[in-house]
Amino acid sequence: MFHISDCKKYTRCPRMFVFDQTAEKQPFQSFVRLDETVSDLAALKLGIKERFLGERGDAPEKALQAMEEYDWLIKARFEYDGLRIKVPFLHRTDEGWDIYFLFIGLYPQANDMQFYCDTVWVLENLGIQLHEYYLIHLNAEYVRGKYLDPAQLFCISDHFFNDRNHPSLTVETAIRRSRKDLSGMLREMENCTEETAGAPVRTSKCTGRQKCRYYERCFPEEEAVPYNSILTLSAAQYRYDMQKEGRLYLRDADPERIEGSRMQYAQIMADRNGGLFADRTGLRQWMADIQYPISCLDFEWERYAIPPYEGMRPFDVLPFEYSLHVMHENGEVDHRVFLSFHDDRRAFAERLLAELPETGTVMAYNANGAEMIRIRELAEQLPDLADRLLAVNERMKDLQTPFESGLVYDTRMHGLWSLKVIMSMMDDPGYNDLAIRQGMDAVFQWRQVDRSDPDADAEEIIEELKEYCGMDTYAMTVVYKWLQEITEEVH
Ligand code: SF4
Repeated sequence: MFHISDCKKYTRCPRMFVFDQTAEKQPFQSFVRLDETVSDLAALKLGIKERFLGERGDAPEKALQAMEEYDWLIKARFEYDGLRIKVPFLHRTDEGWDIYFLFIGLYPQANDMQFYCDTVWVLENLGIQLHEYYLIHLNAEYVRGKYLDPAQLFCISDHFFNDRNHPSLTVETAIRRSRKDLSGMLREMENCTEETAGAPVRTSKCTGRQKCRYYERCFPEEEAVPYNSILTLSAAQYRYDMQKEGRLYLRDADPERIEGSRMQYAQIMADRNGGLFADRTGLRQWMADIQYPISCLDFEWERYAIPPYEGMRPFDVLPFEYSLHVMHENGEVDHRVFLSFHDDRRAFAERLLAELPETGTVMAYNANGAEMIRIRELAEQLPDLADRLLAVNERMKDLQTPFESGLVYDTRMHGLWSLKVIMSMMDDPGYNDLAIRQGMDAVFQWRQVDRSDPDADAEEIIEELKEYCGMDTYAMTVVYKWLQEITEEVH
């Protein structure tokens, strides 16, 4: 018996489907926090009182029997031809059953139709007459008051949305356009083995939005690619073709088949120069307006699907920690950390404003994509502090810029430019000895303490969180000094 998730994997790649059948199940840690049972909240929005509630492991006849007795079915399990589905909400009307798909997001798009189509395929093959098709999803405009209001938290739509969040196809039309008979695919899935799944073929499905967890298993030869391999050439469509032709290194790149970005130029020049490329004029210009004291700043935050505190919207974030290393012109460095649990946005913002020097440059790594956005959000939520918070953004400089724009490239970067990658090139143990080494691990650890998980060692986690966030800003001081040094080198 298969689930829709199996069909999705098989559609993406039969090898992935096969590997997943035997792989050890990994504990799921969601990037977005969801403490509430969303279907319970959605049921309040729909005004459901009497209902049948399906459960994991229900016999397939159970939901069919419940359709005789109840007008509302929630999470009912159905099966047809070896495919088992869970339907969020079904509602009896005089013309048939209305179906409500639950989407935990703001603007559902018709770009992932398999779940919707497969669900309808099973129901229709069971002879269930569907009438209207709806989506129940989170309301981007909702701002939580003191209490959560399910009536405002959700929207009910009969259409999907386009990239600009405008209404597009109706749900029914989108399903009718994409539907197909699944019987053939289900038979193929039953007979699929590693042999029949075929040899690995590298496609966008291997490295797309999320790298496939079996990538190293399919392409073990790539684990040992040298730092200056042609495969590290950033956003290069033809890098695998060039490698096959024997153009193994960055310096061998075919000028006719590269996109010609500044980053690619920096990478090729770094390999030709023995490992490092630095546009010293560009670096000097980038540094020209940096002033001491230099405040290196890093935030950690949690993102919530359902707003847990007053003034928050769906998918808003809650900053819970900052680290601040202040570099003075005389070489001295101060360090401060703020860490809190639950809702401490005001204390976070007030302490930050109190501890940041009133002058000088504020620096963050990926400031444009993270800290500056968090500061704007805090300014919106704390209007009395807004002017002072937004003034911090006026002094913000993004330390990632020299790396992502190709002003400097070291082949040890391997085509990447995260702070951890850059720090790994420095003569410093950096993140190596830390218990927490990734931002999401920090969030998962914080979550345990925030939820008062009885198995969590709160004191140890607090210490580790401080070390991790502190390392991010310490690393920035090291990286900035390195940039200064290479800029000052005479060539
Ligand atoms: S790496 Fe590519 S070929 Fe291998 S399982 Fe994943 S998607 Fe399939």
